[in-house]
Amino acid sequence: MSLVEIQNRMRAAGGRGVRLLAISKLQPLERVRAVLDQGQRDFGENRVQEAASKWPDLMTAYTGISLHLVGPLQSNKVRQAMGLFSSIHSVDRIKLARRIADIAQEMGSCPELFIQVNTGEEPQKSGVLPAQIDEFTGEVRALGLPVAGLMCIPPLTEEPALHFGLLANLARRNGLTGLSMGMSGDFETAIRLGATHIRIGSALFGARPG
Ligand SMILES: *Cc1c(COP(=O)(O)O)cnc(C)c1O
Repeated sequence: MSLVEIQNRMRAAGGRGVRLLAISKLQPLERVRAVLDQGQRDFGENRVQEAASKWPDLMTAYTGISLHLVGPLQSNKVRQAMGLFSSIHSVDRIKLARRIADIAQEMGSCPELFIQVNTGEEPQKSGVLPAQIDEFTGEVRALGLPVAGLMCIPPLTEEPALHFGLLANLARRNGLTGLSMGMSGDFETAIRLGATHIRIGSALFGARPG
């Protein structure tokens, strides 16, 4: 689908003002350039290393790019990630938050932060459990970090609306306005349930190779 088609579908779902993140992980460079040439400037990657090898050159060639980290972040990659990404959607442990706080203090700035919630309570998936989100949000705020919102990746086999609704409730009761939810197959549902950031990969770029 072209960028314009996605934007039309977003509008039709009531998504005016929702931020579209183009998730470019594993995509060939010519597809990424094609989307940049259509005017897209918000991109997401799920690995720090891959982003670091791909984006510095593109950021020189195109102005105004914002990069979002949507995959797991190891503590030893925080410094590199903070030099590259304007937002991190995968804050999921206090050790990671402490590391981010230390480096933010040094840098005098901090990326926009989303706490990842494991709404499906899947053992193999990262994210804070719903029952722990109030306490965790409080701990992150106590470090002086600004929390923009919550992020989730619903289980593949469940109705995503239930997870988006849960995420919206958890955010509301913690006074958080950002909701990073919705991917290629379910972004319209996410928009209807209040998404502020949707993360679209394959619908925009085509199937990931490999
Ligand atoms: C890959 C990925 C996406 C995009 O998935 P598509 O189904 O290709 O749109 C969104 N969010 C995260 C966290 C991802 O890793």
